[in-house]
Amino acid sequence: MLNGIGMGVRVVCPYCGFGCNLLIDPKSRRVKPYPGEPNRGKLCPKGLYALEHVFSKDRLKHPLKKEGESFRRISWEKAISEISTKLKEIIEDYGPGSIAFIASSKVTNEENYLIQKIARLLGTNNVDNCARLCHESSVHALKLTLGDGVQTNPYSDLERFGAIMIWGYNPAETHPVVMQYILGAKRRGGKIIVIDIRETLTMRFADYRLVIKPGTDITLANAIMNVIIEGNLYNKEFVESRTTGFSEIRMGVKKYTPEYAEKVTGVPAELIREVAEVFAKAGSGAIMWGMGITQQISGVENVLALVDIALLLGYFGEKGGLYPMRGQNNVQGAAYMGTLSEFLPGYIPLSDSKFRRKVAKMWGVEDLPTERGFYLTEYWDAILKGDLKALYIVGENPAVSDANALKVRKALTKLDLLVVQDLFLTKTARFAHYILPAAAFCEKEGSYMNSERRIQWSFKVCDPPGESKPDWEILVMLARALGLKGFDYSKVEDITREYFKLFPALRNRSIEELKARGIIIPAPRLYVDSFNTHDGKARFVAVEQIMPWEEPNGEYPLILTTVRLINHYNTGEMTRRSPSLAKMSGESVVFISREDAREYGIEDGDYVIVETRRGSLRLKAKIAKIQKGVIAIPFHFDANLLTNDALNKAGTPEFKFSAARIRKI
Ligand code: SF4
Repeated sequence: MLNGIGMGVRVVCPYCGFGCNLLIDPKSRRVKPYPGEPNRGKLCPKGLYALEHVFSKDRLKHPLKKEGESFRRISWEKAISEISTKLKEIIEDYGPGSIAFIASSKVTNEENYLIQKIARLLGTNNVDNCARLCHESSVHALKLTLGDGVQTNPYSDLERFGAIMIWGYNPAETHPVVMQYILGAKRRGGKIIVIDIRETLTMRFADYRLVIKPGTDITLANAIMNVIIEGNLYNKEFVESRTTGFSEIRMGVKKYTPEYAEKVTGVPAELIREVAEVFAKAGSGAIMWGMGITQQISGVENVLALVDIALLLGYFGEKGGLYPMRGQNNVQGAAYMGTLSEFLPGYIPLSDSKFRRKVAKMWGVEDLPTERGFYLTEYWDAILKGDLKALYIVGENPAVSDANALKVRKALTKLDLLVVQDLFLTKTARFAHYILPAAAFCEKEGSYMNSERRIQWSFKVCDPPGESKPDWEILVMLARALGLKGFDYSKVEDITREYFKLFPALRNRSIEELKARGIIIPAPRLYVDSFNTHDGKARFVAVEQIMPWEEPNGEYPLILTTVRLINHYNTGEMTRRSPSLAKMSGESVVFISREDAREYGIEDGDYVIVETRRGSLRLKAKIAKIQKGVIAIPFHFDANLLTNDALNKAGTPEFKFSAARIRKI
């Protein structure tokens, strides 16, 4: 059966970007893992308890309008009419550049497609999604070197590789189900190398564990390349035939000897040598990375250095792959559907006039705006300066998820119009003028794209509560009220069919195939024969160590970083309303080393104040295996009141490095 009836209704997990399928029995509401790809009969606790938040008593059930300090219920007709009238007035008074949209990495491809279509038809590219906060650094680096900003190989390839390097990424807690693939490689004799700033759960499964000083990733990567080049361990045939810029890399990494790198990174020179040799001699290998790499001021350069390692060894196609592992369940789809302020759908640059006009023609207009919109991380200063007057947010919670969250909250109070579509009265929704109640993942149909670029259909299990509606239906109502043409969709598949027309890889594929099996686009394995660059060759880009934006000093002597917990997701609005998950994780903590705890007179379980230049938090201290001088806070609570909003080249804040201090209360 297409929708898995018999086994249960097949639904895409609403949490991480791995993209597990759940089988839900609508009557008993029991959740079972789907036996096929990608999860192969496995689920992590978040997937198993994925229905609990859906039936929370906190669900929004009616449109709400702010009156004074509280909200009053209004009808859908009135809400949409008032919102569209206000938007039109703002555009008339200040121009289309004064409005902005935040799309959602949790809603379907169809819904993301509509959000950017509305924004662009209104005349602005101010449409962005939370990829800006996580993997936009990867997109910029991968596009520059290889041609596409995406994961190169399917998960199933991981099992075949001779070595897997896991860098700034803790899959055992972030994407627990991917561990079966990683451990599959290990069972076949593959070597697992883990590089992180603390002893993560993933490190327990590693053959090589490298605990690195925060912010020194480029030095370590360059030292690994130094060993590979000096030892003649690189793949000469691949480098000569399929890359450009090798001499730049050879020169660039010369000074990064393992001994030099030991002083900078804290990783022993002998271990750097051994790991470089093991990875190079494995014959095939993957590099997987996460936010530990991308959420730094050097995020783009960090990824460039990892790509350089893979290029030196020719680890592409059958021989290896690059895995920028996505956080939220549809962050890949949201980006692919065009909800990035510098790209049209498919990551096509705004400057590609042929594609831009093709999209415009499909939407019934001559052309679309060409100027890059604000990055989502630039919205807050733009609002405070008066350049942005209206913000429309679908399913995101920037008052908690964005760096320097106090500044974000201040900006949210300055808007002439703030609309939030969501399941719950989130911290962001509290600032809204209008709140529109949205359906949860299992109360609607549509497609999602996981980290391996697999588009999967998610079927409907039950009706949404009260008057809440699927996001796409709300967006269609809004577009029609705004007088936009081309929104005469009667079912969600009409939107799917429209986005299929945009991508050559989907031109000869059918929605039936998508519903039955899912489709990986453009192909499961990229770059088998050629890279997606003008000459078909990949480009080495040498990078130098870049220092973090703010360094610890006498006033703020510690380095604060943010981490994830297995039982929580993003800003915790869903998982905290899931009793089984909330029980497992409880309140927010700060992880501190035994040495630092002793120095500050802190015992495990004591309450402490953690402060940075941006704010302070009261937290429970937890003594953990983390290096001296570094403290870590799970980002699911209010950690971003403390984090640094300095942006890297891709517009991603330096969440992973803030100078901080701690004191016992
Ligand atoms: Fe859901 Fe990710 Fe857990 Fe799979 S690994 S069940 S997709 S949260």
